[in-house]
Amino acid sequence: MTTTTVDVIVLGTGSAAQSTAYPCREAGWSVAVIDYHPFGGTCQLRGCDPKKVLVSVSDLVDWSHRMQGKGVSAPGLSLSWPDLIRFKRTFTDPVPEQNEQSFAQAGISTRHERAHFMGRTSVQVGEDTLVGRHVVIATGACHADLGLPGEELLTTSTQFLDLDALPRRIVFVGGGYIAFEFAHIAARAGAQVQVLHRGSRPLEKFDPDLVSLLVQASRELGIEVLVNRAVTAIERQGDHLLVHARTGAQEHTVEADLVVHAAGRAPEIDKLDLEVAGVAYGKEGVYVNEYLQSVTNPAVYAAGDAVASGGFPLTPVAGMQGDIVARNLLEGNRHTPNYSGIPSVVFTTPPLVRVGLLEEAARAQGLRFTTHHEDTSSWDSTLRVALPHTGFKTLVEEGTDRILGAHLLGPHAEEVINLFALAIRLSDIAIGMIGGYVGTKVMEPVSMKLYELEPEADRQPGGPGAERRLLTRIASRKTAALLGLRLTDKQVERAGLVFHYGLGMSGTRLSPPASADPTSSACGRARRRHRVSWAQ
Ligand SMILES: Cc1cc2nc3c(=O)[nH]c(=O)nc-3n(C[C@H](O)[C@H](O)[C@H](O)COP(=O)(O)OP(=O)(O)OC[C@H]3O[C@@H](n4cnc5c(N)ncnc54)[C@H](O)[C@@H]3O)c2cc1C
Repeated sequence: MTTTTVDVIVLGTGSAAQSTAYPCREAGWSVAVIDYHPFGGTCQLRGCDPKKVLVSVSDLVDWSHRMQGKGVSAPGLSLSWPDLIRFKRTFTDPVPEQNEQSFAQAGISTRHERAHFMGRTSVQVGEDTLVGRHVVIATGACHADLGLPGEELLTTSTQFLDLDALPRRIVFVGGGYIAFEFAHIAARAGAQVQVLHRGSRPLEKFDPDLVSLLVQASRELGIEVLVNRAVTAIERQGDHLLVHARTGAQEHTVEADLVVHAAGRAPEIDKLDLEVAGVAYGKEGVYVNEYLQSVTNPAVYAAGDAVASGGFPLTPVAGMQGDIVARNLLEGNRHTPNYSGIPSVVFTTPPLVRVGLLEEAARAQGLRFTTHHEDTSSWDSTLRVALPHTGFKTLVEEGTDRILGAHLLGPHAEEVINLFALAIRLSDIAIGMIGGYVGTKVMEPVSMKLYELEPEADRQPGGPGAERRLLTRIASRKTAALLGLRLTDKQVERAGLVFHYGLGMSGTRLSPPASADPTSSACGRARRRHRVSWAQ
């Protein structure tokens, strides 16, 4: 049994934890990170990253089918699940070791244990005690406890992403983004898929009109999307499972070979003994002030999915919060998160995205705005890639032309949304289209332009708006990253730039030259990816 004292103890090794640990260490602090899982957290090992490997292949297969007889004449490609999972493992398997090495190179001490508090700033790790000047809770989220009989028969998203073989009949419990993404992949891999959603509308955090189009596309793919189906129990019967559900008084039972938990995630804080540390929390996570500091124990901060912050439980948010915690620890409480303009994506084919407000929320806030909404299924941009259903909706404030919300369903929507994110983030910039009103060319990223509405003085070369104009110009062309245009960390941070890294538009291209880049090491790359808040 030993007792070690460090400046900061970070619980977790995911996006939030990494974004806190590295800057603190670089500033000369002694840092310890602790995780009972292999190092890397959900996104790298069990979430966004592996999922997108599956999505890319499923997308390709779907595209090849859609284009049959339209210039593509190879017999339709098929998706080989075992090959796909092997391919995915080439991305995930090296991650823990890479993280181990990065932490070691940076001089961050590591422990593989489940930690819990022993006092206000001390945690127990196995037999040992760590005492910190500060403790950062970055323990993420885990699958919510549903309280259902037979719940132990559910397959988690982590297990789904690592299945050696894909069963024939799959039921998803819950109709959120993970259910839809996995359902699309599974259906394209040949499974019979049902999504059972308790409420009357799936994907509740996305625009209802576009969700209807996506549900239609999903049904045409063969996915049964059933709403108002509250799952009540899961039961094993021989070699298969029975899923019992209820619609009002009506009972339903479906047979399945695999039943996947897609009914929500909850902050993983219940085994931390937060009471011992005097850290207040609720079911949404650790209660923090605007600086992400515990409201009841000033030595403790929290970031990522474990925190009740009002931000989406997404990787870019976790990374941003982790970075803010680091800066507040190092510089004193000065930095606060900005959650505006953070996009959220459903990686289906086509992808469904949102940034900013839903119509309902904008109305509830009493905002006056114009809605531009169109079903673009008959547009050339959709027809030429043979997608059945696409559309968009933008909310533009009357009088200011401010973009309040943008919602897209269509090819490359997960990229295009970043332009809207930038416009929302830099709220003095309105977005328009050449020769048309907002939205007429919404699926044409290359022809998209951002118009800056700024005072004349701002327009002078080198004037206050110069840096922003540079960012705007860069953001207005999707090809900028490929042209090797580079931004300094300061520029990126000033804009609070939010970019997806899908479709090869990775953060590395939007970074300063390697020689001037203090984050060009492997650990730096991991950290930078989170620090600049890539939306994923
Ligand atoms: C299937 C899936 C797909 C997703 N897709 C996307 C996406 O496309 N885009 C996106 O932005 N987000 C996505 N997310 C969400 C994203 O992964 C999370 O928001 C993000 O990883 C949260 O980061 P974090 O650092 O807060 O926590 P995590 O990355 O979860 O890290 C927390 C770590 O803490 C460890 N830990 C927990 N308790 C303890 C303890 N007591 N002691 C020691 N260690 C502990 C855990 O083992 C874990 O490794 C997805 C999530 C899932 C599950």
